[in-house]
Amino acid sequence: MARMRRTSCVLTVVAVLAVTMPAVRARNDSPRAQAAQAQPAAQAFDLVIRNGRVLDGAGNPWVRADVGIRGDRVAAVGDLADAPAARTIDARDRFVAPGFIDVHSHAGEGLTREGLEQARPLLAQGVTTLFVNPDGGGPIDLATQRARFEARRLGVNVAQLIGHGQVREAVMGMADRAATADELSKMRALVQRAMEQGAFGLSSGLFYAPGSFAPTEEVIDLMSVVARYGGVHTSHVRDEGDYGAGVVASVDEIIRIAEATGTVGIVSHMKALGINTWGLAVACTTRIERARARGVQVFADQYPYEASSTSLMGAVVPRWVQAGSNEATTARLADAAARARMLPEIRRNIERRGGAASLVVAVYAPNRAYEGKSLADIASQLQVPPDEAVVSLVSRGSVSIVSFNMSDEDIEHIMRQPWTMTSSDGGLVKMGEGKPHPRNYGAHARKLARYVRERRVVSLEQAVRSMTSLPALVFRIADRGTLRAGAFADVVVFDAATVRDAATYVDPHQLAEGVAATIVNGTVVYEGGAFTDALPGRVLRR
Ligand SMILES: [Zn+2]
Repeated sequence: MARMRRTSCVLTVVAVLAVTMPAVRARNDSPRAQAAQAQPAAQAFDLVIRNGRVLDGAGNPWVRADVGIRGDRVAAVGDLADAPAARTIDARDRFVAPGFIDVHSHAGEGLTREGLEQARPLLAQGVTTLFVNPDGGGPIDLATQRARFEARRLGVNVAQLIGHGQVREAVMGMADRAATADELSKMRALVQRAMEQGAFGLSSGLFYAPGSFAPTEEVIDLMSVVARYGGVHTSHVRDEGDYGAGVVASVDEIIRIAEATGTVGIVSHMKALGINTWGLAVACTTRIERARARGVQVFADQYPYEASSTSLMGAVVPRWVQAGSNEATTARLADAAARARMLPEIRRNIERRGGAASLVVAVYAPNRAYEGKSLADIASQLQVPPDEAVVSLVSRGSVSIVSFNMSDEDIEHIMRQPWTMTSSDGGLVKMGEGKPHPRNYGAHARKLARYVRERRVVSLEQAVRSMTSLPALVFRIADRGTLRAGAFADVVVFDAATVRDAATYVDPHQLAEGVAATIVNGTVVYEGGAFTDALPGRVLRR
């Protein structure tokens, strides 16, 4: 009920705005004049972005307008040609949009590292807000994480999620069983604390251990706590391919959790993984459409690449190997009988993901020479079959991989859905460190280049909306995601003809191109290819 009241309250505000808006129109019908008249003309702006094609983020076609910023907020959008301004940026007919919101980011850890706090690879794409702690991961004490971010100061805004897997591990370790009533109440308490610390919702990684050990009912139980705070559930689903439950049933699980708790469910980085699953994107989106038709709030996000990236352990080693503890895992990897049991399963999982040649090592601290090499190459160098090479690699340390496993048809089909947001799923590492997935540097720019400009899969307006107002609406971020007077001044100026991801799988450490300026909370952080030293980012609260 509390949730319903909150929703109707928001609707009331929107209704009032809709009624008051026409009064502003009175004298001049042009959109420029309408917006300008809402502002006292004589007041000076701190910054005016002139001569841009303004995309409001809501999906509307652009209008030619100036954007006036005062302090950390947009003060006016309209014809501000005569308005005094402390400084101006000439957009030169480029597009001016709300700063992009990355709804699934692994940059949380990187942001706390010296030299990475400004998040330059993201600012160079116009990303101004990130959701951290995805896939059930991240710390369980969000106040400490917040304090760490605030002490360091950041270039981007950060919104926190509470990770189900971490909560489960804190209470019951890596136990492969359902929680007892007592354990469940401890998990509920941790989730409640996180929501009170400002989390926007629960992230789960039901594919990964220990999230994979949890029955659906456990997530429903925890989401009933999150529901009281108006938070969302965003999930790396139990199976994106054909490992077990299958991708369609796994999407159904997210729908079921959302339906049972009256909350928003988000299928994170939605995909159909592996050749056996290609084409099932249609079945998945149909399930979501049907759920939405009966009133369930389901959404998805997506990064625009045919390769995913995860740990080699997560990708191909069966979950029973990880049950119990790290010591138990190490013992199993070394035990002949356990190896004999896991190798055929690893072999099948490698095939599922397209074979050993399609798995490329991204970061491997024990042997940097393997970075950028495929599992097939490494296996032949070690003169063992790929499944044995996997055991040998993961026994010596954590291995992150890039895995080519998606079809373009599925990617495009998922992208076209009006409820699909944009994410990167990327992390933040030092320039030159390993061979990470290029999404770290290029996800948002690539969508605008490859899928809007080159292939016309979605319109520019829809793509921008999927990165701005849609995430703000779904996650309930106040006053961001839309370019309008009163909103926070997170703004990107970009050239739709030249914006592009420069990062490739072979050479990933390349900043995106075509973004002329990025502004966070009214402060210019990136302009003309150069970064300022400003760290105006904030840790947001639900
Ligand atoms: Zn994930």
